[in-house]
Amino acid sequence: MIKEKLEKIKNQELSAKENVENFLAKIEEKDDEINAFIEINKKAVEEAKKVDEEIKKGRNLKLAGLVFAIKSNINVKGLRATCASKTLENYVSTYDATVIERLKKEGAIIIGMTNMDEFACGSSGETSYFGPTLNPRAKERIPGGSSSGSAAAVAGEMCDIALGSDTGGSIRNPASHCGVFGLKPTYGLVSRYGLIDLAMSLDQIGPISSDVYGVAVALEVIGGYDVRDNTTLKYKPKYELNGVENYTIAYAKEFEEICDKRIYSEFLKGLRILENKGAKIVEISLPNLEKGLPAYYLINFVEFFSATRKFDGRRYGYRIEEVCGKEVLRRILLGKYISQKEYSGKYYKKALRFRNLIREEILKALSNVDLIASPVTPKLPHKLGEEIEPLEMYKYDILTVIANLAGIPAGVAPLSKINNIPVGIQFQAKPLEEQKIINAMHAVGEEK
Ligand code: GLN
Repeated sequence: MIKEKLEKIKNQELSAKENVENFLAKIEEKDDEINAFIEINKKAVEEAKKVDEEIKKGRNLKLAGLVFAIKSNINVKGLRATCASKTLENYVSTYDATVIERLKKEGAIIIGMTNMDEFACGSSGETSYFGPTLNPRAKERIPGGSSSGSAAAVAGEMCDIALGSDTGGSIRNPASHCGVFGLKPTYGLVSRYGLIDLAMSLDQIGPISSDVYGVAVALEVIGGYDVRDNTTLKYKPKYELNGVENYTIAYAKEFEEICDKRIYSEFLKGLRILENKGAKIVEISLPNLEKGLPAYYLINFVEFFSATRKFDGRRYGYRIEEVCGKEVLRRILLGKYISQKEYSGKYYKKALRFRNLIREEILKALSNVDLIASPVTPKLPHKLGEEIEPLEMYKYDILTVIANLAGIPAGVAPLSKINNIPVGIQFQAKPLEEQKIINAMHAVGEEK
């Protein structure tokens, strides 16, 4: 439990140094197999000692001595931000992303950089140049992606909390498959300064943790206005863990036909848990749900194409097209094609229209209820190494891309297991209503 550990460190019953050393030993023991980390911070113990000194001086640090693992597309000074690509294989960050600066200021220790799908393009954790990550809770299955290493590091007890990024589900999908908690914040709640973009109008950094408290406290620290990112909102996050009494929670009737029957039936059990805790469950309809995937992928390809133009081999590493994997190349080529004037009207503009429709539909639905609950992925994670078609891979995201397209927050809590494979439940809320999501995650999580 993160809260209890934090208290122990603050009371000097456990030192930050010991906390780091325990995780380093775990990594040593487990990570050859799991492959959650691309790089370990060699200065972690030294940094922990400094935090211990601060604690001894009586400084009240919000994350005193907690150990964080960071997705490899976020800049941490002195460590490599590879995006799990050969393109940036040797790129060492020269500065801290805003989220990292904020974590360090509150006494967090960065233990290392985690594995991911190359440039965050994927849902399985298999496209990394550094090899796939295993799911610590279901080893023959994929851990989900693209924040595969961050979720696996938490599930494998190799850190307290991890940061991931979520463009269309990359925090929530691996959190669900690995049986941990994860939250994609409202667009603009968390600074993207120092995040290497996949698609900048959709990307958000967010926390993954073994409990809701970890998610809430990390989000409080990393969230809030940043002068260096002009899309950030003037808002100071502050969260508590409450219940869901008197909440109206909706689910859409369309979810049933999209989902594997076993996943849907676990989801219904999740709704019962919430009902037993005092929430009112109502059915709604989201007829534009199926437009989400095509809209998302078209926008993603176009924005990604534009974001990758700086990787031309002159300033950073290698020229991306020459060294990247299949999926990244597919997106660059499609993005380039769709960006051309003659096709932009036909595809891209249509995608933006779909995006508006979806945003309006979900915001309207949310105006009458507190939360929308749903399954996270429509199917169980496939076996590691099983070849699946790109369109099959994209289908994992049907229930998660909506929140990114609409800019609303969405969180995942572990719900149950099917054949020993974890499955989660997702909650979406109005912009900046992360508190309600945290309460619902807490209500479900308490059942564990
Ligand atoms: N699976 C989605 C994609 O491949 C989401 C990726 C993400 O959220 N970074 O685009």
